[in-house]
Amino acid sequence: HCGFIAIVGRPNVGKSTLLNRLVGQKLSITSRKPQTTRHRIMGVDTRDGYQAVYVDTPGLHIEEKRTINRLMNRAASSSLTDVELVLFLVDGTMWTDDDEMVLNKLIKSELPTVLLLNKVDNVKDKHELFPHLEELSRKMEFVDVVPVSAKHGTNVDAVEKIVREHL
Ligand code: GDP
Ligand code: MG
Repeated sequence: HCGFIAIVGRPNVGKSTLLNRLVGQKLSITSRKPQTTRHRIMGVDTRDGYQAVYVDTPGLHIEEKRTINRLMNRAASSSLTDVELVLFLVDGTMWTDDDEMVLNKLIKSELPTVLLLNKVDNVKDKHELFPHLEELSRKMEFVDVVPVSAKHGTNVDAVEKIVREHL
């Protein structure tokens, strides 16, 4: 089975770093024309009888507020068509207005979403990890919540397992 997995989050949360961890050397397809396709394919992971296609979904990889406003006014999250699972990446040490905007779009999409709290290596005290989680969980139900470090590879295997089980 082949499914689209969207890696979404505001700039600088670690999407590219996570993708490199997930597909590593297996990166086989890249597109330089995001505007010509619904999803920009970032990488493909084929193994053990499953294929995960990681995509960068225009409208959720948001660089500026004007863009998101335009996209959010567009008919019901059309850019998310064909996505089977969303990996919603946030910086586990902070929550910003841009994260909030991505969250609102995901809520509207009603897609199964895994919340990934990235950069856990920056969290000294485990109790300080993402204090916004409770509030967030009241707004949206997540398939799972996983603290990760894309940079160090921490828990990336757990993310792969969730993806595999979902496809
Ligand atoms: P993107 O804009 O969402 O694609 O984010 P990038 O993958 O380009 O990462 C943005 C910055 O965060 C880079 O400097 C990365 O090295 C850093 N970064 C990504 N993941 C981690 C992590 O798990 N821990 C730490 N400490 N830094 C990270
Ligand atoms: Mg990037």
